[in-house]
Amino acid sequence: MAPDDYYQVLGLSRTATPDEIKKAYRKLALQYHPDKTKGDKTAEEKFKKINQAYQVLSDPAKRQQYDQFGAAGAAGSGFSGWSQADFAQGFDLNDLGGFGDIFDTFFTGATGGRRSSSRRDPESLKRGSDIEANIQITFEEAVFGATKKISINRQMTCENCQGSGGQDGKTSKCDVCGGSGEVAKTQRTILGTFTQKTLCADCRGSGQKPARMCRSCHGEGRKTKTEMIDIEIPAGVNSGQTIKISGYGEAGWRNGRAGDLYVNIHVLPSKDFERHGDDLFRIETISYPIAVLGGEVKVKSLEGSLTLTIPAGTKSGEVFRLNNKGVKHWDKAGTGDLLVRVDIIIPARLTLKQRRLLEELQDEFDLNK
Ligand SMILES: [Zn+2]
Ligand SMILES: [Zn+2]
Repeated sequence: MAPDDYYQVLGLSRTATPDEIKKAYRKLALQYHPDKTKGDKTAEEKFKKINQAYQVLSDPAKRQQYDQFGAAGAAGSGFSGWSQADFAQGFDLNDLGGFGDIFDTFFTGATGGRRSSSRRDPESLKRGSDIEANIQITFEEAVFGATKKISINRQMTCENCQGSGGQDGKTSKCDVCGGSGEVAKTQRTILGTFTQKTLCADCRGSGQKPARMCRSCHGEGRKTKTEMIDIEIPAGVNSGQTIKISGYGEAGWRNGRAGDLYVNIHVLPSKDFERHGDDLFRIETISYPIAVLGGEVKVKSLEGSLTLTIPAGTKSGEVFRLNNKGVKHWDKAGTGDLLVRVDIIIPARLTLKQRRLLEELQDEFDLNK
């Protein structure tokens, strides 16, 4: 599926201000909100797209990346700092952040109030949190890939109880819910009294508790520790990208599933190349005779020195593209290009002979005017 132009989706020009983006989003989101369009699939699709466009354009960093790399970049290099999962929301009024209150005013009557999601699955209550870390790498490490060690302070499975939270493996019924894993909560609202069953917070839905709590982790099944982790940096990554390492977040509560670790990449600049996506840029200087007569010059590349043929009559500032001499795409086959701008050097000092030759050349040009 071809990605939509986010500006078009919101009916905006590319120079729209953050305020205009917010206003356009508000208007369209109200118009296409599923609570209003009730099961209209086309409207639902449109609402999804509006949210997707807003997620990107409302975030200055994401917007800049989008502007620079466009829709094509969305699937490729430089644009992978966030995942499709970021876009997966948008249907719950509560997820609309700052606009939640507006939607409430509009839709409470129609839907009978906010949908509640208090019945959660027990596994998600036991799951460890995701954690985030930052890593700084050199230009070369980003281009060629590397293995980096980072120190992570996180909750890990308690060794004393193997994560069970119990001292001797024996369990008993949870005192709070009496073993059912659920507790009933009564709420009075203007629409009447509701009794809602929710998962027991004490045993997180299991109905059980350790007969004797582990002395080391006090029943949590996990303890904070510092650990060194090897991070495999794939060749071709760039600043702003995030590497996800599944299962390296906080350990789960009493053997619940562990969270994930997200490592944000920061790449230090290179003194030899400027990088845009997977293309590299470099300036080489050439002499006036080479520019006029043509010739070969040496150009620094990732693979070492390359020969670039300068055609006769090259102007200062002309750009030559060396195909596939840029950065290897990290997520698909292929490589970016190396773009070399040639600047003609004007010598600040001349030898006597150079001066004489240039003066002769000047005379020759004057004669042929
Ligand atoms: Zn309980
Ligand atoms: Zn323990």
